[in-house]
Amino acid sequence: MFKFFVTLLTPYSSLSAFKGTHGDNMQYLLAIAFALFFTFTAHAKVEFLNSPGPYWEQKILVTLTQVNEFLPAHWNTPDKVRIQHSPQPDLSYSFTKQLVSVGVDVSDLLMHEYAHLLLDKYIHEHCPGWSYFFARKMVQDKELKDGIADKQSNLNSLKQALIDFEKDEFSQQYIKNVQNSIRQIESQLRFLNNANKNDEFYRQSYAQLNYYKLLIPYHELFADAVVSLVTNNWFAMKNASQKMLELTRVHPALPAALTWEEFLNYRIFDINLKVETYSFASWENDSPYTQFAPFRSEFRVLVSNGFTSKSEMILKLAESIAQEFETQIRQTKPQILSLREKNLFLLERLKIKISAMSEI
Ligand SMILES: [Zn+2]
Repeated sequence: MFKFFVTLLTPYSSLSAFKGTHGDNMQYLLAIAFALFFTFTAHAKVEFLNSPGPYWEQKILVTLTQVNEFLPAHWNTPDKVRIQHSPQPDLSYSFTKQLVSVGVDVSDLLMHEYAHLLLDKYIHEHCPGWSYFFARKMVQDKELKDGIADKQSNLNSLKQALIDFEKDEFSQQYIKNVQNSIRQIESQLRFLNNANKNDEFYRQSYAQLNYYKLLIPYHELFADAVVSLVTNNWFAMKNASQKMLELTRVHPALPAALTWEEFLNYRIFDINLKVETYSFASWENDSPYTQFAPFRSEFRVLVSNGFTSKSEMILKLAESIAQEFETQIRQTKPQILSLREKNLFLLERLKIKISAMSEI
């Protein structure tokens, strides 16, 4: 019936809290219905941090389920999703913590942040270059072999200390802490040694390219595409961003050349723009949201042509982005692509994938 489901970690304790807070029978019954639905159909878990209550959690679960149901059956959805309530009036996704923060109730924007998490997981699984990036950050941008040597020496000292502590019958809690640190460093060393196997593929491009800056515009494109397809509205992200501004009155930073209205128009999937003829402005490089205007337009045409289902288009877009990113960073003489090249190369990849599917 459903492709993917989410569940509360503690539905029953949440329910009693819900009753106590609201004391409204109708709402309470609704909460039970939601909780049972999500509990009995559970495949994956959502962990809520700093949750203000079950009503907030259930609204989030509804949005995540809407996205998950839309994804193709063979999409490898996350086993666990972490959602944090933010005291700030914003929504965001942390790439380092793999955590979505929610401080405003705008479901389309939550969908956008969740799409970041989905693509991030996909990139982690399909782009060893992204793991290499994290490994280098883990050792503060040192050469990996030097970072590994430092960690190894740290590990040796801890192991020696543990032997000494045990001889001296040191406090059990202290010994436990050292054992935890040892386990943590051993796990980091496994990750670093794995990444180090790919050092020759990435060391040159890592020195010359900012992987994060390179990937993020693709991420924003993907997250906006997911919202537009799931809601069946090419203007969804513009509308959601306007709603966010009305609720928070917080203006995001804009490229100097743009008004707020012009900036928001980059979030829609417009008609009649062509990658071949589009006139790119240099400042479109200044924001991760303004780099794929003609691609968005051509993407809309591809979706409208119906060569493949909308849900399959999400997967094909993720595949194209992962391959495009990996190709760019896996070069001995890395180059920063122009905006036209970025739009064109991604579009070509996507078209090849779609035509391969229609031939099946
Ligand atoms: Zn985003």
